[in-house]
Amino acid sequence: MKKIALIGCTGNIGQKVVDAVRCYPEKFCFSALVCGKNRDALHALQEEFHPPLAFCAADGALPLDEIFSSCDIAFLAPSGFAGLEYALAAARQGKVIALSNKESLVAGGELLMKEVKDRGATLIPVDSEHSAIFQALSCRLDTPFKKLILTASGGPFLRLSKEELEHVTPKDALRHPTYAMGRKITIDSATMLNKGYEVIEAKWLFSTTFEKIETLVHPESIVHSLVCFEDGATIAEMGYPDMRVPVRLALTYPERLPCGEDLDLTKLQTLHFEQLDKEKFPCFTLALEAGKSGGTAPAALNGAAEVAVDAFLKGGISFPKIAEIILYALDKTPIAQADAFETVKAADQLARAHAKRYLYDL
Ligand code: MG
Repeated sequence: MKKIALIGCTGNIGQKVVDAVRCYPEKFCFSALVCGKNRDALHALQEEFHPPLAFCAADGALPLDEIFSSCDIAFLAPSGFAGLEYALAAARQGKVIALSNKESLVAGGELLMKEVKDRGATLIPVDSEHSAIFQALSCRLDTPFKKLILTASGGPFLRLSKEELEHVTPKDALRHPTYAMGRKITIDSATMLNKGYEVIEAKWLFSTTFEKIETLVHPESIVHSLVCFEDGATIAEMGYPDMRVPVRLALTYPERLPCGEDLDLTKLQTLHFEQLDKEKFPCFTLALEAGKSGGTAPAALNGAAEVAVDAFLKGGISFPKIAEIILYALDKTPIAQADAFETVKAADQLARAHAKRYLYDL
């Protein structure tokens, strides 16, 4: 019986973990459940699963060490920068960490990877692209490869012109063509910031360089990512877009549980691939540049992005303004070494303050 400490238990990915536990009560149980702010949903899960520990993050500081101390797997699916503290706490205890929260690697990759290495923790990717790569690498993070290719659906605005992007609404942006996800990540997919994040995430997870990671737009989201090897062989993981697959694999790998639908290639007939339009989606390049700058730059990027996306969702700014706000806050936030949580958090806070300042001045 694997004991899971689930952070973000009421969110989109959290619910898929809950489903797995519901389907396989002989294999899994919860040692702790933590939600962001949805207390009612948390109470319902407590009634159903009776975890020894349950907390709502909105109620105040959490006993992180206690939350992770008795688990076999720390499943981290909270939203945004908040994920970093959980990831660091779980890593400090040398746990197996199923990582769905990509912001922890974007904002604090250097810090988190050091903790993982020093404490003998294990990171298991949950993001569909990274899970695909993990599978193509035989469920290992250290298999040698020549190049990684991350696929991107292109989001809901793939075929819109730059001018048309001026007029899209939050409702348009929330209509993702292939995946149903949380609101923040759906907007990040529409701006392609998400793909930039995923490049940074891949760099840390697979201990590689930005030069060895490419991206490719693939509107059908059937090929979830590819790995190219030295000898010219390329291995792709394919399937219908279904986050239950990477979620369950992270819980049981290398074992697999029955889960998704079998892929029928004759029904699909054709798969399309094209280059990402970096001019139309400047957030992608902003993320990549922040990643290459290193230090606290990606933390500042993420802090500014969380403020900008929130403003867009509330109808306060146009879609292209998201990139403008991120660029503005990045320029204003000095880059420091990302060697302590406090430094990373300070960059996050400062970038948020600059982003809010920009919004205030609009
Ligand atoms: Mg993804």
